[in-house]
Amino acid sequence: MWYRAKFLYKGEITEGCINAFGTIVEIRKECRPDLDLSNEGLLLPASIDMHVHLRDWEQAYKETVVTGTSEAVFGGVGTVIEMPNTVPPVRDYDTAVSRLTHLDRYARTDFSLFAGVPKDRNEAERMASLPIAGFKVFPEDLESFHVVASSEKLKVLHPEVALANSSFRNMRAYWMELASLYLVHGRVHVTHSTSLDTIRLAKSLGFTADFTMHHLLVEGERDCLSKVNPPIRDAVQRRKLLLAFYEAELVASDHAPHAKEEKAMPYELCPPGIAGVSFTTPFVFSLVFKDVLSLDRALDLLVRNPAKVLGVTYGEIEEGYPSNFVVIARESWRYSTRFSKVTQTPFDLYPLEARVKYTIVRGKVVYDGEDVYPVKGLNPFARAVRVKSLTGA
Ligand SMILES: [Zn+2]
Repeated sequence: MWYRAKFLYKGEITEGCINAFGTIVEIRKECRPDLDLSNEGLLLPASIDMHVHLRDWEQAYKETVVTGTSEAVFGGVGTVIEMPNTVPPVRDYDTAVSRLTHLDRYARTDFSLFAGVPKDRNEAERMASLPIAGFKVFPEDLESFHVVASSEKLKVLHPEVALANSSFRNMRAYWMELASLYLVHGRVHVTHSTSLDTIRLAKSLGFTADFTMHHLLVEGERDCLSKVNPPIRDAVQRRKLLLAFYEAELVASDHAPHAKEEKAMPYELCPPGIAGVSFTTPFVFSLVFKDVLSLDRALDLLVRNPAKVLGVTYGEIEEGYPSNFVVIARESWRYSTRFSKVTQTPFDLYPLEARVKYTIVRGKVVYDGEDVYPVKGLNPFARAVRVKSLTGA
């Protein structure tokens, strides 16, 4: 499939042709394109979102792999890594196998998952042989961190101590976040850091860190819609978190969908979580168009650094890289979700300056500005799949 487009090639924006199958086969100046995107915007590597909850299974009423990854491509995301707190949870080998199979069948993006901490080291070793991205360490798992500590796999930390789970929400202080970082070691990535101090501490301990757009933009926890874990911090912490755009390795959404009826429950009872998988990329490129961020820094946050942290190959438009692209145009619009089962988020009507015009996964148009198509994503951790994709199959 030949695409003609304006794209970033070896540090320069150029116009030319890309022959894209599973991976980029060839780049050259001229061609007779199958699809000409050169007037649609700038073609860039699609984003990686390292922190999403796609629900499905017994929670298919909240979201499914199909609706969640459809929302992802609407937001320019070409790869999602899923968290294990599904029902049933992915905390053992067999469930991990069936979840990977389920994702393989239904994901419209590239995909993998972080497995939960299993019961013992043997099980952790067996699970590490699967094409998973690593292990997710929730606050309640900190006591059994030793089970995954020696694994080569990446450990993603939800940075709060277990005490946070039993605390009243207004007592869920950010020191609980900082304290949790001292309880882990090895190859660790700290997700949804709510404060700049967390990111700086993570760095000083040799870890990497991400932050979400809701911990930056949502003005306090006011209702069920803005209820999330760890909680949104006060205005001072949120302003300081702006520097995370220059200091954190990457951004993630923590897309955490719940049903309308659940979010309509009394504040004390409603489940925490914000569904924003499609918000991050257009928001970050809006900052580029406003000259707040450089294009290079945006790509570092959205795709190059996630790829590095995960240990997979994405983030450049060069021969051999996956053919996962997003076409971004400068256009004013107001945000709302399109394909998710969640229709209300705290980002609704947020004014954006960047719009996703096309998303391409493994060489195929999966979103064209109107519709999402049933394109099949690949698991970049699956070696067999990787070899297959290199031959363009
Ligand atoms: Zn999460």
